[in-house]
Amino acid sequence: MKDLPKLELHLHHEGAAPPAFIRGLAAEKNVDLSGIFEPDGSYRFDGFTHFLSVYEAATSVLQSPEDYARLTRAVLEQSAEAGVIYTESFVSPDFCGGRDVEAWRDYLHAIREAAEQAERDMGITMRAIVTCIRHFGPEKARETALCAAETVGDFLTGFGMAGDEMKGTPEDFAYAFDMAREAELRITCHSGEWGDPKSIARTLDVLRPERLGHGVRAAEDPRLMERLAESGVVLEVCPGSNVALGVVPDWASHPIERLRRAGVRVTVSTDDPPFFHTGMVREYDRLADTFGWDEEVFRELALTAVDAAFCDDETKTRLRKRIET
Ligand SMILES: [Zn+2]
Repeated sequence: MKDLPKLELHLHHEGAAPPAFIRGLAAEKNVDLSGIFEPDGSYRFDGFTHFLSVYEAATSVLQSPEDYARLTRAVLEQSAEAGVIYTESFVSPDFCGGRDVEAWRDYLHAIREAAEQAERDMGITMRAIVTCIRHFGPEKARETALCAAETVGDFLTGFGMAGDEMKGTPEDFAYAFDMAREAELRITCHSGEWGDPKSIARTLDVLRPERLGHGVRAAEDPRLMERLAESGVVLEVCPGSNVALGVVPDWASHPIERLRRAGVRVTVSTDDPPFFHTGMVREYDRLADTFGWDEEVFRELALTAVDAAFCDDETKTRLRKRIET
């Protein structure tokens, strides 16, 4: 599994931070983060809301563009080791300069330089997707969209929304998404991790994403699955995350196989891997064990991810070649 070329379309940059990296940074800066770690050094949290606050606490030690450059290196090393050849990481101007456009430029520049160095050293390609944080509210989402619109290009290619899905409505964020779309950013949005099929449909209607973050609760509604299959909207499915957070009780009841069989285009990602004690190799192993997926299915999965990737055609051609040989 380790050697299979993998693509990851749903990864939160800070959420992918190896715990040892965050602990090291906390020690350098004399920040006491002992409360968010287990004795064995892994992240400690209980349920989704607590996870969000532990996530924000861990992120508090990332305070400069230089910190984000180091984070980028650590995250891409971890991914490359798992056989990931292409990754799209969610970055948030909320954590990078407090949504100030000029500060954000410096952060993004540092992230990009580190990503380009990692590509030269390890052969892993990264693109960035700016995400607004839903529970921070629509006002901040607009400021975030403005940061994204000002820095769109061949590295920063997408816009999305993460955070607490049960807060606010898609309508609240329509302005931010419209601004991003006008700037020619590609659109994804977390939906259907916690929200029901109705709220997924509403997200599709109002925010018009070409991909959904998670989207797994669509499996509860055959008509919605049909809509997804027909429209070709791609799901960024993160099974290990769903199991860890209790979206589903266990791997066997995860709907990814049902969605796939219904013709919905699915991809596999890790979301916030160290938080959920996972990684791409582990996801692949569990999918093979649980649903009998073989190399052919994983190849199909990787090719779907190439189609759905927010990058240029030249990069896609290069990625397809690496998958097919
Ligand atoms: Zn996510």
